Amino acid sequence: MSQYPQSIYIHLPFCKTKCPYCDFASFTEKNKDIQSQYLDALANEITSFFQTHKIDKDETLIKTIFFGGGTPSIHSGEEIANIIKRLQSHTIFDNEIEITMEANPGTINLDKLYEFKVAGINRLSIGTQTFNQKLLDKLARGHTVEDTFEIIELIKKVNFKSWSFDLIYGLPKQTLEDLEDTLDLAIKQGSPHISAYALSIETNTPFGDIYKNSYHPELAQETELAEMYKLLDEKLTNNNFERYEVSNWAQTKHECKHNLTYWRAEEYFAFGLSAHGYFKSHRFANTRELQKYMDIYSDKITLSSDKYDTYTKIKEAEQLEEEILLKLRLKEGLYLSPQIKEKLNQEKLNYYQSQDYLEANNKHIKLKDKAFFVSNHIIADLLS
Ligand code: SF4
Repeated sequence: MSQYPQSIYIHLPFCKTKCPYCDFASFTEKNKDIQSQYLDALANEITSFFQTHKIDKDETLIKTIFFGGGTPSIHSGEEIANIIKRLQSHTIFDNEIEITMEANPGTINLDKLYEFKVAGINRLSIGTQTFNQKLLDKLARGHTVEDTFEIIELIKKVNFKSWSFDLIYGLPKQTLEDLEDTLDLAIKQGSPHISAYALSIETNTPFGDIYKNSYHPELAQETELAEMYKLLDEKLTNNNFERYEVSNWAQTKHECKHNLTYWRAEEYFAFGLSAHGYFKSHRFANTRELQKYMDIYSDKITLSSDKYDTYTKIKEAEQLEEEILLKLRLKEGLYLSPQIKEKLNQEKLNYYQSQDYLEANNKHIKLKDKAFFVSNHIIADLLS
């Protein structure tokens, strides 16, 4: 096995519109010069990283790449191909490599989709959010349900290895019936993977101003969110999906291998604005400021910790906690090493076991189905 990380995250921050609930590092930059300046900086960062760390290409083996954003699909096939070629000039790609791109409806036509496939993209994650036009309008994502159907047709024509719908539930004024309709449509469209996250209201966003009060009458409260989650899990499980992580369901062999890297607490490379990487027991984050990022990487440089916004050595104790936090979100659970056992609150563990929330023996621990919606609470308790 390669001594180096086997996954790479690439951040492409440009979007068609800025959604009012979004606090990601993303911009509605239409100026092609700025976009190409950014892509040059990204290429420089990639090369600087591999050269600074003296990473021997022949000792690498990359199994997953994930293009996130932003809206990576607003870029051309050629731009995406150039990034992939740059990565290939420093690393060896596994024959079975998974290369995912986040793609938004309304940003792709058939030619572009073919170009992405030729460039190497073999998995698409579609920013669907909901199949209800009224709710979609409220999210102001700059696409329609019609656009979503159109992209689905194109994906089927081009025949990608796998694809996914990204959904949001708990949208303002969303009812259980609305969610059920969206799920029925998503299942009917045949995507083998579905991610569904509850809407999170972030401060410093327009939604943060509107929904300052988390008890706002338009927002679903804990009980309604729990019902929505139950509906999601029941519907998907009854339709050949398996929940392999708290918010992710997949049909056999369609799990997102890239995200499993994060949830298994493995290390990974990460490049681009605000990208967070994990390498040689250090977690580090690039700046969120576009101009600053482009200034730093305007040329090839020798990378040092001061180029990052944060650069933190993860101590063994923290590593263990991260492992517990992340792996317990997975259906597969976690191997109970003596060090992990020591970190867990035995009294709480016994309690949750007696209440049928988790399964544990001497070697292994995993949450049971009914624990998933409250997993954050249970995990925090186990670490207390
Ligand atoms: S498309 Fe995604 S990244 Fe872009 S603004 Fe909307 S939520 Fe944020």
